[in-house]
Formats: sequence, structure tokens, C-alpha cells
Amino acid sequence: MTSDPVPIMNDLGERLRTVREEKGLSLEEVAEATRIPLHSLKALEEEKFDVFACELHARGFLRNYAGFLGLEADEILALYDQRRGHSHSSKPTLLPAAKAPAATGRSFSGVDALLGLAVLALVALAALSVYQRRSYAPPVATASPAPTPTVTPMPIAEGTAYTLDVDLNYAEHRLRARERIDYTNVLSETLSDLMLNIHANCSRGTFKLHSIKVENEGEWVQPEVYPLDMTLRVQLPRPLPPREHVALSLEFELNLPRISPEAEFSRASLGYSRRAVSLGNWYPVLAPYRKDKGWYGLTCFEIGDPYVTEVADYRVTITTTQEVMIAATGQETRSGNRWSYEARQARSFALVASDQYQVRTAQTGGITVHSYYFANNAEAGEAVLHTATQAIELFTELYGPYPYADYRIAETEFAGGIEFSGLTFLGSLFYDQYDGTARTPLLSLTAHEVAHQWFYGLVGNDQVIEPWLDEALAEYSSYLYYERYLPDDTDWWWFYAVDQWAPTGKIDSFIYEFRDNRQYMDAVYRRGAQFVHQLRKTMGDSGFLAFLQEYQRRYAYRLVKSRDFFSLVREFTTADLIPLQEEFFRQRILP
Ligand SMILES: [Zn+2]
Repeated sequence: MTSDPVPIMNDLGERLRTVREEKGLSLEEVAEATRIPLHSLKALEEEKFDVFACELHARGFLRNYAGFLGLEADEILALYDQRRGHSHSSKPTLLPAAKAPAATGRSFSGVDALLGLAVLALVALAALSVYQRRSYAPPVATASPAPTPTVTPMPIAEGTAYTLDVDLNYAEHRLRARERIDYTNVLSETLSDLMLNIHANCSRGTFKLHSIKVENEGEWVQPEVYPLDMTLRVQLPRPLPPREHVALSLEFELNLPRISPEAEFSRASLGYSRRAVSLGNWYPVLAPYRKDKGWYGLTCFEIGDPYVTEVADYRVTITTTQEVMIAATGQETRSGNRWSYEARQARSFALVASDQYQVRTAQTGGITVHSYYFANNAEAGEAVLHTATQAIELFTELYGPYPYADYRIAETEFAGGIEFSGLTFLGSLFYDQYDGTARTPLLSLTAHEVAHQWFYGLVGNDQVIEPWLDEALAEYSSYLYYERYLPDDTDWWWFYAVDQWAPTGKIDSFIYEFRDNRQYMDAVYRRGAQFVHQLRKTMGDSGFLAFLQEYQRRYAYRLVKSRDFFSLVREFTTADLIPLQEEFFRQRILP
């Protein structure tokens, strides 16, 4: 008997496509089920890996997709490494020699994708090589004379400052903004470009850039810009040496999408709902710069918090078309419909506006806590105020000082909580469920969100690659809140927050590997809380608390990594940490 030659299934993209088709699934159906964007799925099947902003993103999506199809993810990733090695050597590099360190990344096959420096170097390589091939003119309105930016810059010593002047049309849920970014090169190398992450670009038709200018020897000039996914690389008219300053001036418009009451995570931070306009992650923000690895461009994703930002100073003015109440980041001054805010060294600036808010405040240790809520949830709004005030007291005692004069927590119409500097969006879903007891998600979530002021707000981390660093600590802080103020309800807390889910997963997973929020929260929050609890038992209470205080003292206003966390733990305990790492982590962080 003769037969046609059997196709050899070592072709990565072909293999994905074949298995998918055998299951009778369309790409659209897979996108729906995995949350991987359709264009990214297509790119994986066509092996067009250069469309991904970075190597880690491609690997995360690949692991997710392979797992969904029932393929062995490690095998698929090994195949991917093989193909990348091959494609790298067969393609001419588009990079200038100065970026050459990335070339050592070719040997990364088998190296831990999360921690390998070589792989991280490839991040910059992959991103930059794509940019260089896709340069085109920015969508800039050209007929008008060069605009003199109307925004007065904030005086700054060093680092980055944002000055935003916003006209908010509340009824039509759109805004027009003038943004000025003052950037001082705090790196030891000369920069030829800057990169902005524009999260608002993730929802189609929301963001429109009207103009972008760069200051060059006292003149405002239009730079070359290179958009990719949600990033915008801005070519500087002349190189920026260390300690030198440059200013960018942008004008943009947002036409906000509708937020569904069931929305979670990144789908819920930007948009309008029945009774509010929510502006989280809404303005073009400088990408973090990673030494030897370049600018960190991000990718749109629905699960988790796909944001990583450095701290900066903010001065923001919002003028509204009608009487609304605004809750925002920083020190507030108000004159009629004009609201002004200043915040120093904040990781983000967010605001929510509503024509229906009620507000109550409380004081603790020189900090004013503001709770904003809708009239039907007055009792829940009061409980949030009480809980947030206690939580600020407790976390100040345990971790260190809260850095601002105000903390605001605002009911917004979605199904979760999202943290910003000095401000939290908290979902109506939880206010609606409030039953007047301590055994209710509203209190647990409030404490979790307040803790984010320390974990992510002050000590920042890469929420894409290592989301456990802020989420596990915030979730465990909620338990510490119950332990201090509601000790009769701690068993309930463990059941509600952790045990009822029988969570599985490795906590050092990154967000693109997850297909739904349940999977993500099981691995990162719930296993995360279990891990921190075990760590506390291993270190003993006094060592554990001394560690957390030093963690804040040493790393506030910076971005930390898992290995910073563990090397500091080592300073406070001689206990063997390997069993803990083996139980909860995919990779061993420290020997
Ligand atoms: Zn959280």
C-alpha cells in the first residue's frame, strides 16, 4: 500500500493552525476564549513574531494558546526558541551597532524567560527592529501654525513631570487635553528617542493625537514618530545626554468607550458608565527605560493590570462643561468647574467625575480620606470610609508612611477595584452587595486596594511580568486588616478570599499566560496570599514585619523585581527558602 508523504509537524505555526482546525475552531473563537488579540493569534500561526512588542509577550501568548489547544506548552516554546534562533541568524540585523548587546540573546534557548537578562535584551531588539521597518508620518494636523503650548511647565529638579490641561465634556464623555512632558535624562547613556505607552489606544476609536512637538533649542519642532500597537516612539531632533532636559508637547482627544457593569481589570479603568466618567491610564505616559534593555513598550491585554510606570510629578487642571464632582490624584484646589491637582512622585494620575456623587471624609494622622459613592449606597460608602481609614492607619504602622495628604476611594460602575496613586476605583457591584456585616467582599477589597498605595504605588513592579509582587502583598494585607480589626472573621476571610477557590498555579506567571481572570487570580492573588502567609511563618512575625518595612524604605519610588524581594528576605532570615520557592514558583529566584 502506498500513501502520500506524512507532513512533518515540526512547523510551529502550521502545528497550531492544524490542531485548531482539527478542533473545528475559528481564530475568532480562540481569541474570544483565550483573550489573546486576534492579530496576535494570526501572527503566531504565521510565525510573524516581530509584530510583538517584545519577546516575552510572544512567549506568554504562545504558552497561553498552546495550553488552550491541549498542546504541551514547554514543547511549543522549545520549538519557538529553535525557530527564533534560526530566524535571527538568517535575517540581517536592522539595529545600529550600539545596540549589539542584544545579539548575545541568541543563546537564550532554555534560559528562564522571566529572569534571563539575555531575553530581556531581546525585548529591546524585537521592539526596535519593528519600529525601524514601520516608520511613517504621524497623524498631525498641519494647517494650523505651530502651537505654543499653553500649559505652564511645573518646575522640576530631575526626573519626569507631566502638566495636563483638560477640557472635559461630561455629558458627551469626551475630552480634549494639552499635555506637556518634561523629561530629564537620569540615565548614564545618551538617548536618541523617547517612548510613550498610550493605553487609551487599546480601545478602538478612543484616542486621537492632534499634534506632537519636541522642544529643540527654544523652538517647538515636529519629531518623527513610530507607532506600534499601543506605543509611540518619538525620535529626538538631537541626542539627549545624561542630565539634559527635553520637553514634549502633545494635544489629544479622547472619545470614551462605555464601561459595562460586569467589566473587570483593564476594560474598566477608562470610559463612561451611567453615572460616572472614569479616567484611569488615559494619557500618553513615558515608558520605563531599562538599563541596557531600552524602552519598555507594552501590549494591550484584558487580564490583569497591563501597566508599568515610573513615578513622576503631576500638575493637572480639569475644566468641566457642567457641575460635576471630581475625585482625582493629589492635592486639590477648586474654583467652580475648574479643578486643579498637584501630586509629587506619583506613579499615576487618575480621576473619576460624576454628577451624582456624594462624599464623606475622615481624618487619620494628618491624612484626609474621602469616600465618594452614589446615593443608593450611602451605608456602603460609609463602611468603605471607615475601612479605608483604619487600613491607612494599620499599613502606615506596618509598612511606613503614606506619602500624600489625601486618599480618595470612589465608587465606579464596574466589577472590580483598580489602584492609582492616591485614588482607588471600587466597583458598584461590591457596594450593591454590602450587607452591613464584616463578612462581605466590600471590606476585604477596600483593604486590598488601600494596600496598593504601598505595593505598586510606592514600591512599584512590572505588573505584566511579575504581577505577584504587588497583588500577593496587597491580598495578604487584606488578611492583616482582618487579623487586626476583625479577628473573629479571619477564618471567613481565608475561605472567602482563598480556600473556596481551591487555587492552583505558579505565582510567578505573567499576565499574557492566563486565559481568564479566575486563572489569573487563583495563581497570583490566592496562591500569592498563601505564599506570603507561609513566608511569614518561615521568617517569624518580627522578621517578616521588619522585612516589609525595609522593603518600603529601600525600594519606595522604584520598580523592584522578584530577585530584589528575595535578596531582601535573605537579610532577615537564615531559613531555607527553597521549599517555599518550589511550592509556589515556577522558577527558582535565588539559590
Ligand atoms: Zn490588586
